[in-house]
Amino acid sequence: MIQKEYIPTASTEVSANLEMDEQERQTLLDMVEDVAGMEVRKVAILLLDHEDEVTDEILAEELNVKLDEVRKALYKLSDLEIASFRRIKDKISGWYIYFWKIHPERINEIVLKKQRQVHWKILERLQFEKENMFFSCGNKDCNRITFNEAMEFDFICPNCGNRLEDFDNSRLIMVLEKKASELERIIDENQTRLKIRKQS
Ligand SMILES: [Zn+2]
Repeated sequence: MIQKEYIPTASTEVSANLEMDEQERQTLLDMVEDVAGMEVRKVAILLLDHEDEVTDEILAEELNVKLDEVRKALYKLSDLEIASFRRIKDKISGWYIYFWKIHPERINEIVLKKQRQVHWKILERLQFEKENMFFSCGNKDCNRITFNEAMEFDFICPNCGNRLEDFDNSRLIMVLEKKASELERIIDENQTRLKIRKQS
């Protein structure tokens, strides 16, 4: 789902805990906005401002939006594993009251998980590029196609009718390999940082 690589800007220094928390906060909010949009970001900010758990009704009041909208946003945050809730049955009304809490400390693990997913996708793509031969008509509006597809079309572009020629994907492979190794390095660094933080 997420194509962007969320790379925390935090330095490798672990001592500056407070500073890192602010960066984590920013990383968290940026990720929330990218994935779920501005409205969900607003809810996340409000949740962060409440140090303790808070009901969806209070959040709706504070944001001056409909309860349904806040709930939708909260469930998105829950899907992202950034927020969680517990519910209590109101003895008088019989309705459930939902208490929500945000988990900013999870952001590093969430980022790491996303990075691993992106890394895996790059590796899959790399394999596809390496295992296939490609053909192209050279026309920017047409897609390149694999050898088998080109055979089917007698090496004539199915889109524009031009002749299909060899398509050299070696540069693309190089770019993907570079991306993959950069990401590996970042994942390694983040893993180490998480381990150090957990120990301290
Ligand atoms: Zn074409």
